[in-house]
Amino acid sequence: MNGVLDALVQKLGAGSCWAGEPMSRHTTFMAGGKAAVYARPANESELLEAIAICKEAGVKYFILGKGSNTLFPDGESDVAVISTEKLNDISLAPDNPLRIKAGAGALLKHIADFARKKGLAGFEFACGIPGSLGGALRMNAGAHGGEISHVFHSARILIQDGSVKTIGSSAMDFSYRHSVLADRPYTALSAELNFTEDDPEAIKARMDEILEKRNASQPLGFPSAGSVFKRPAPNVFAAKLIEDCGLKGRRVGGAEVSRKHSGFIINTGGATAADITELIAIVRETVFEKTGVMLELEIVIV
Ligand SMILES: Cc1cc2nc3c(=O)[nH]c(=O)nc-3n(C[C@H](O)[C@H](O)[C@H](O)COP(=O)(O)OP(=O)(O)OC[C@H]3O[C@@H](n4cnc5c(N)ncnc54)[C@H](O)[C@@H]3O)c2cc1C
Repeated sequence: MNGVLDALVQKLGAGSCWAGEPMSRHTTFMAGGKAAVYARPANESELLEAIAICKEAGVKYFILGKGSNTLFPDGESDVAVISTEKLNDISLAPDNPLRIKAGAGALLKHIADFARKKGLAGFEFACGIPGSLGGALRMNAGAHGGEISHVFHSARILIQDGSVKTIGSSAMDFSYRHSVLADRPYTALSAELNFTEDDPEAIKARMDEILEKRNASQPLGFPSAGSVFKRPAPNVFAAKLIEDCGLKGRRVGGAEVSRKHSGFIINTGGATAADITELIAIVRETVFEKTGVMLELEIVIV
């Protein structure tokens, strides 16, 4: 790993990569151990260089957006984490005023605000999802009846052979909380999203309503990664099954099944990744025993 760190420092500079970074600082769970190497490329070409360096050295790397759907294991990991944080440009697409182009690290709430100011509607659903565009593409993030696939136009993707391709919706293979980025070692660099015109005040009213609903129903005062499990079937909700199985408030160490929204596991303070994974196992086993449904993880465990 030292050789990789040296090569990264040479390309990115010592201020943009270092060893032993606690991942609790970069994940909304605020839990987990240390990345062997943490790199924060300043732009797309540095990101491509960082990935190439890891690949050449045969080192496992993990592309991190906002860390709002990710749990890192405790202790020292052997993973190089490459953050997209700085790839956060947001602009109108040069050839279409109803399209926004954003870097993979752009936050969904910033894209939603940019769109609102320009009178561009269709992204309100995402204004309260605390992730980056890259993470949202990987997860096909969605809420309030909308999802990324509904607004997706195209994405620039780094594929295995090291080339960058612009791909459209069908190649993204979107389905519920899934895209091709989950199946292949692809990295999203940027994407263009489609919008429709509307009055900024009307857009703001819809965003405010969504944020209010989320505030009322989600334990936003505690670190979490949102819903831990996928919906097992359309109109079947993991949170309802978990609540019906009497698991609300169940704890392991500092991890707790939220009393406000039982699909969330919250870090009540000092939860380790082991606490969270043990609680996840208890929830899955209990729900399976009592209902026959095996809940599938929505969050990514590194
Ligand atoms: C309070 C709260 C509420 C939430 N509500 C919702 C919700 O309503 N709907 C919803 O869908 N989700 C929700 N989430 C989950 C999460 O915000 C989304 O899944 C989000 O899209 C993840 O983005 P991220 O940048 O944080 O991804 P990360 O956690 O950084 O990464 C998630 C996965 O995406 C991969 N990834 C990240 N960037 C890229 C890239 N550029 N190219 C390829 N792969 C990449 C990572 O390697 C990882 O596998 C919520 C989370 C929290 C904490």
